[in-house]
Amino acid sequence: MAATSHDSVKRRDGLSALVTRWPFLGQRRALVAYISVIVVIDLAAMVLTALAVPLGWHEPLVFLALMSCGAICIEATRRLGMPAGVSRDLLSAWWLPVALLLPPMYALLAPIVLQTLLQVRVRAAMLHRRVFSAAAIGLAGCVASLMFHWLAPRAWPLTQSDTTTTVLVAVLAAVVFVLINTTLIAIAAHTANPDGGWREVLWDRESVTLDVVESCLGVTVTVGCALHPLLLVLALPPVVLLQRSLLHAQLQAAARTDAKTGLLNAAAWQREADTEIVRARRTGETLALLIIDIDHFKRVNDAYGHLAGDQVLVNVAELLRSQLREYDLVGRFGGEEFVVLLPRTDLHEARRVAERLRHRIGRMSVPADEAIITVTVSAGVALMAVHGDDLIELLAAADLALYRAKELGRNRVCLPVAPPRLPDDTAG
Ligand code: GH3
Ligand code: MG
Ligand code: MG
Repeated sequence: MAATSHDSVKRRDGLSALVTRWPFLGQRRALVAYISVIVVIDLAAMVLTALAVPLGWHEPLVFLALMSCGAICIEATRRLGMPAGVSRDLLSAWWLPVALLLPPMYALLAPIVLQTLLQVRVRAAMLHRRVFSAAAIGLAGCVASLMFHWLAPRAWPLTQSDTTTTVLVAVLAAVVFVLINTTLIAIAAHTANPDGGWREVLWDRESVTLDVVESCLGVTVTVGCALHPLLLVLALPPVVLLQRSLLHAQLQAAARTDAKTGLLNAAAWQREADTEIVRARRTGETLALLIIDIDHFKRVNDAYGHLAGDQVLVNVAELLRSQLREYDLVGRFGGEEFVVLLPRTDLHEARRVAERLRHRIGRMSVPADEAIITVTVSAGVALMAVHGDDLIELLAAADLALYRAKELGRNRVCLPVAPPRLPDDTAG
């Protein structure tokens, strides 16, 4: 179902507010201030923890070995590319062992090394994002490291410690690492886009599953490396393979998604709508299609600029998604045109849904630098077996209905002008 792909990108969407939805002035100042505070705390922690690092050759060597594994992981998946916006990886498999095996300073250093590599070798993201990521991961790792060394001061060497306690405290430290990192990112995403809900950036099933996998990997690699650093050679291939399949899944999801709004793109929507229509025909269930077009959108761009126009598109998309059911298919069809497929919906219900969406979008306000933007939409509704029997016919009917809505003065919901065929007529 399309909703699954949406879910999987929700938190990344939230964070991508840092990248794509460069917010309006007030939010921008708040975001810059927040990122600066986190980076300053990170630098201060680095100086403080550096003073406490014992001199020796063992720790730098372990650090080098773990960073080399991270670098190999990055290089091995580099050719696959990286989805636009923010993507997840399994690099925690390497910086969690750094935090647990070495003094806290190394935990602050590790993300700088790997984020620099990602920036240089994989994709040149916006610098503030990389710096923020490195600082957030570094601080999360530093706290996890301090906590671990405090709770299990004699954890290493593993053969001379209570292994059960060590592993349990390591798991606890991994949870703390994930919680702090997620919270720091969620605050940034919320600062960039205060209208987005906290729940969306803090919690979605796909991200939590990945967090669990990353933590398990991190603790396993830690234990292996503690037994003997050479065991890293055995851990590397499965981690690389997992990283490759994760990236592959994300690239697949990105190929279905409209980068600006996070909705399905036109091709993916058509593919999935086709499947849904075939299913409805087979089961005899009702199904409706809506085309929703923002009224006079060109004027919004002309009056407030293209960036503000983009923000309107993002907000309309978010509203559509939040107002519809899990199994409704929502897509961005063209510039300011959205399509919705409503399975198991009759004409009365489809009109009701379309009216509700029109009403909600009309009440929505989008802050621009010195103004509040409001928009209205027109919508065309078409019903399966009444206005058309396949996707092409339904789209044509809904488009006709949309044209009527525009002709009649916009900000309204219309049906196709042609008199509806009765369902019984369609049988022959
Ligand atoms: P109508 O009520 O008849 O639909 O008028 P309209 O101005 O909404 O429609 P028109 O087709 O004349 O203009 C659509 C505008 O949408 C023009 C185009 O610049 C703008 N647009 C298309 N894609 C994007 C986008 O991704 N971002 C922004 N900001 N504007 C876009
Ligand atoms: Mg329009
Ligand atoms: Mg249009």
